[in-house]
Amino acid sequence: MPHSMTDEEWEAQNSGLSPDQATARGLCWCCGGKSVLYTAFGRVQRAVPCPEKCNNGKAKR
Ligand SMILES: [Zn+2]
Repeated sequence: MPHSMTDEEWEAQNSGLSPDQATARGLCWCCGGKSVLYTAFGRVQRAVPCPEKCNNGKAKR
């Protein structure tokens, strides 16, 4: 789907949680429960799968 978000708006889709905050909520420290990471540079906007291979954003035990 085409979109017209700025890079800042795109990256704002990330959880915004610190690793400690995410862990305290039982969420993956890396993606904060999103299961993807939003990255953008120069209007190239990507959602990449969490490199931790977490279970849909849940913290691994
Ligand atoms: Zn994750």
